[in-house]
This record gives sequence, structure tokens and C-alpha cells, in this order.
Amino acid sequence: MKYISTRGQAPELSFEDAMLTGLARDGGLYVPSEIPQMSQEEIAALAGLSYEETAFRVMRPFVGDSFSDDEFRAIIERAYAGFGHAARAPLKQLAPNHFLLELFHGPTLAFKDFAMQLIGQLFQAALERRGDRVTIAGATSGDTGSAAMEAFRGLDNVDVFILYPHGRVSEVQRRQMSTPQDKNVHALAVDGDFDDCQARVKDMFNDFDFRDGVKLAGVNSINIARVLAQVVYYFSAAVSLGAPGRKVSFTVPTGNFGDIFAGFIAKQMGLPIEQLVVATNQNDILHRCLSGEGYYKGETAPSISPSMDIQVSSNFERALFYAYDQDAAAVAQLMVELANGGFDVSQGAMQALSETYVSGRASEEETLATIKSEVAASGELLCPHGAVGVKVANEHRQAEVPMITLATAHPAKFPAAVEDACGIHPPLPPRMADLYERSERVTRIANDLATLEDHIRKNIAH
Ligand SMILES: *Cc1c(COP(=O)(O)O)cnc(C)c1O
Repeated sequence: MKYISTRGQAPELSFEDAMLTGLARDGGLYVPSEIPQMSQEEIAALAGLSYEETAFRVMRPFVGDSFSDDEFRAIIERAYAGFGHAARAPLKQLAPNHFLLELFHGPTLAFKDFAMQLIGQLFQAALERRGDRVTIAGATSGDTGSAAMEAFRGLDNVDVFILYPHGRVSEVQRRQMSTPQDKNVHALAVDGDFDDCQARVKDMFNDFDFRDGVKLAGVNSINIARVLAQVVYYFSAAVSLGAPGRKVSFTVPTGNFGDIFAGFIAKQMGLPIEQLVVATNQNDILHRCLSGEGYYKGETAPSISPSMDIQVSSNFERALFYAYDQDAAAVAQLMVELANGGFDVSQGAMQALSETYVSGRASEEETLATIKSEVAASGELLCPHGAVGVKVANEHRQAEVPMITLATAHPAKFPAAVEDACGIHPPLPPRMADLYERSERVTRIANDLATLEDHIRKNIAH
């Protein structure tokens, strides 16, 4: 299995190299050269298996010969051992034919742990074997950063620097990044918004002297290994509701498009998915684009679902690559236009996108109202991201097809918004109850490439 860039000008890589590289050297994103198929029998055989065994069978074809079967099984076991629920990704029923997929039982209470915990173990195994080390730089709107620091802290062959927008993450998110005491993980509070953080990380990757000098690696959702790890729970959830004999739909609270793109891969592999619903908050570039209005950047408006506060959605480039029939030159051209503000999607590509995705948005008021009405209707306390999903799912649900809405974070990660919505203060799970007493360590830093690169060079272990 080889990995190719969406912009067509970077070398083809193995799974291991694509994972360690992150962003392709032509600025594009790696995708598998072909998407492996799972037969109806193979999908049916997943029924009743553990999450770990499901992960092994779904991901195995993507990994190629980068890891042996035994090695890969052991890595998966270690990755999910720290989760607080035996099912890893349990389903709860909200209403007739509407289900919630709880993806928040990992160490940092958001779905990012599914991919990040696995990547931590994969990096460690690959780097140990090579006798090598890397520097990980990542941008976060809150959840990726804590998940990365939690996954990589204490590993000897990796330094991690996480850029987050100063003052724009929740207190729980900030504390999850500022309280790990391990010397190899660093939280950087950047004077800017999430798009600035993401742009500075991209700039670092495009500065080849710096990139090669510190052996830069990326674990943002552009990392293909992360996307592939997220394909697994689409299979586990669908199969527990009767797939492949029965179709299911998914609604995904969406920001950078990594999570829902994993759903697209699952569908391409043969999982019978009826609808893939993109749910956005008021930062709705994706909803506007999927409604035929073109892909044009606006200003980011901070919301109560901050992990979806984006204007440019990095993984959407992968969706475009498939919508443009894998025409890398066309994608490269669109990205040039995006740098100048935006682009219109061609008619053919728009057709392809609308065959795969539908979309909706939730305003701040609608998000709060959904938290309140859902706790009254089913007793489920939603985080604001999950509430965006439930609101949009309710607009798209079809009577005959089970809808699965992804609950991407635990409500206790966003206590202020939840309490504001319904008057209930969601407590942290016991294993994290002392988070507010732990001491914090953060560097406040300018939104400036040279300053950031200098800081990283000075703080990596040599
Ligand atoms: C990251 C995140 C999202 C958005 O996921 P993408 O893969 O970036 O679309 C949604 N909800 C929560 C809680 C998140 O942490």
C-alpha cells in the first residue's frame, strides 16, 4: 500500500513514512493510492468482536508491511488500554432510530484520543526501530493538543510543541495542555486565532531548513494515520446496528473534516452508509460550500463549540481530491485560489460531493437549546459539539435508517456552556477530578514564524 499526495508533486510513501511525515512536501495531504475493500462477509464477521480486534481488521490493509501482525495487534492493545469504558466507543440510544456514539472515554475526554493514542504507540515503535527522533509541531483549537501531549508525554524519541489560540480554549482544555509535567511536551499560547496557529504550523513544514533541522513531524488531523484510526468506529457502530445487512447514517460535528472524511473512507471500503451529514456551528464554510455557495474564507467567530471554530478546513482538500476524480493538478490550482480568498467548486465535483455528503449548521442559540431539550428528552447531557450534531441530525433523519450522531467530547470538557444551557454542572470523571489543582506550565508567544521556530530549536532535547 502506497500513499500519494493530493497535489501530485511529492514522493509516494509507505504507511510508516506518510505517518512520520504528516504534510506532503508539495503542501498536499497524503491519501492511500487505492482504498482497500472489505467484503460483506468480512464486515459481517466483525459482529461481536472487541474494539481492538475490529481496529486490527479494518486498519490492517492500510498499514501494509510497515508493521507485522503481532506488532500491530500489540500496539492497538496498548493504545486503548487507558480508556475508561470497556467498549471503547459505546452506543447509546437517544430516540427511536437515533443513536449517540460516545467517543469521549479516552484520557482527554474527546474523540481525538482514538487516533492520537494509537499514533503515539506507532511513532514509538517506528522510531525505536530506526534509532531516530522527531519534533512534533501541531496546532489545536483545544482537543488535538491535549490528546497529543497525553499520547506522547514521557516518550524519549519525541518532543511535542502544541500551538493553541491564547484565550480561546476552554479552561479544561487549557489545563489538559498546561498540566502535564513531562519535559518533552510544551504548550504554546499564541496571540492569534486557530487559523493563525494552523497557518504557522504549515509555514514550519514549508520551511525545509527548519523542517529537516529539527526533524519536524505532524500529528494534526492532516496526518493520514489519524484519519485511518477513525475509520474503525464507523465500522464498530454500524455493525452493532446490523450492518452490512442494514444501512446506517452518520452525523458528524465537523471542523477540520478529518472525522467525517474517515466516514467517507469507511463507505468507500464497502460499509453501507446512507448519509454522511456534516454538522457545523456558526463557522459554516463547509455548510455554505456543500450548499453550492463556493468555498470562501470569512472571519472565525469564537463559539461555544470551539473545536469546530475554523474557516479553512484542512482535510476538505482530501474530499476535493476525490470529488475531482483524483485530479491532483486541479486540487493544487484550487489551493492557490484559496490562498487568495476562495474558489467555486466545478459542477462535476459539486455533483460528486452532494452524492456523498449533506450538511447543516447550528447557531449558538440552537446549540444551547438542543443541550436543554436533549437532557429533558433522553437524560443525555451533550457537550456543545455533540449538540450541534444532534440538532443537524434531527433535520436529516430518515424513518427507515438508523442515525448515529458522533458525541465528540465529554460534557465536562465544556462545563460553562453546558451549565448555561440547562443548569446542570457536568462533573469531571473521577480519574481527572484534581485537574483544577495541578500546576500549569505554558509559554505565551507571538504569532510569528521566526519567534516560534527559535523557541522550538532552543527547547528540543538534542
Ligand atoms: C476536533 C473536534 C471536532 C472536529 O473534528 P474534525 O475532525 O476536525 O472535523 C469536533 N468536536 C470535537 C469535540 C473536537 O475535538
